[in-house]
Amino acid sequence: MIKVDENYPAQGAFTDVLYGSRDLAPAFPYRHVNLKQNVDPRQQFDILPELGRGTFGTVFLCRERDTGLELAAKIVPCKKKKERTDAIREIDIMSCLHHPRLIQLYDAFDYENKVYVILELVQGGELFERVIDDDFVLTEKACAVFMRQICEGMEYIHSRNIIHLDMKPENILCLTKTGNRIKIIDFGFARRYDPDKKLQVMFGTTEFTAPEVLNYDEIYFYTDMWSLGVICYVLLSGLSPFVGNNDMATMNNVLQGQYSFKYSSFDAVSEDAKDFVRKLLVRDGSKRLTAKQALKHRWLTKTAQNTTELSITKTKLKRYVIKKRWIKAVNTIIALRRMGARIDIDLV
Ligand code: AMP
Repeated sequence: MIKVDENYPAQGAFTDVLYGSRDLAPAFPYRHVNLKQNVDPRQQFDILPELGRGTFGTVFLCRERDTGLELAAKIVPCKKKKERTDAIREIDIMSCLHHPRLIQLYDAFDYENKVYVILELVQGGELFERVIDDDFVLTEKACAVFMRQICEGMEYIHSRNIIHLDMKPENILCLTKTGNRIKIIDFGFARRYDPDKKLQVMFGTTEFTAPEVLNYDEIYFYTDMWSLGVICYVLLSGLSPFVGNNDMATMNNVLQGQYSFKYSSFDAVSEDAKDFVRKLLVRDGSKRLTAKQALKHRWLTKTAQNTTELSITKTKLKRYVIKKRWIKAVNTIIALRRMGARIDIDLV
């Protein structure tokens, strides 16, 4: 059964001074969703062209037949029990996360060995793709505005006792092609924090993963904050602080926790911005800024004087994004080959 959340802000009721324009009303009221068993989602939704692929499934544009509402359908093949358990965990976690900076769940179906996760549609594309666009003027202030929203989303997630565990640029989408508002997506790796249980995981994207994950130590809310530090470093410079020539080298760099601002890309970056990153990229997780503290950091507060309006050179960031695009395309080809599918991908 689907219930409308009473905390839902009335259409157009909330404005957002910080982001320069009125915050768009959500596409639909917040909903509490339960997984529907053995109901064909195609009776209710038309599944349209593909929007993207993730670790667990493929995301398609979709339209609700009765209302014409456009949404996104993530289809996760669940032949094995673990795949279904993971998909159900993701739905369970998403159904209790109601916040403007987080992707919203609309409906969910378990039908013929596939789980269909129907989500709010976000049409602005990945944040990094948007900022490298020639029309987008990337300033340090713009970086701070993005980081502030990411921290707002993170503060909310953590307040609901959830750790995202896969914060990376691909999981931050822009709401529209022209606005500055973002949405955090992909709760496939997210876990509920239980103080009575020691939580250890062995997954994530090495480049953005905290040392405690790679060491198989206990993880906590601070694990996400490390990833935010890496995202911010890349956004400001187009350089990745720990990336090595291969995964093992990257892993060693993360474990040592050594990085530097001694590159020309950081010449025009303010001390406040560097201080923000420095306070997140701390090896001892308990000494990192929490999301709440990060939101109070000088660099993110509206009163910050030192945030520069100078535009940041995007050459390195462009190179970074293009390299990622290629890696993704190659991985898709490998995955399709493994499935014996016909390869028909445009790499350009
Ligand atoms: P995910 O499996 O959640 O990581 O999604 C894989 C890709 O699908 C993402 O990188 C996005 O490009 C796209 N995507 C995921 N969710 C949405 C959404 N709600 N609206 C539009 N595109 C999405």
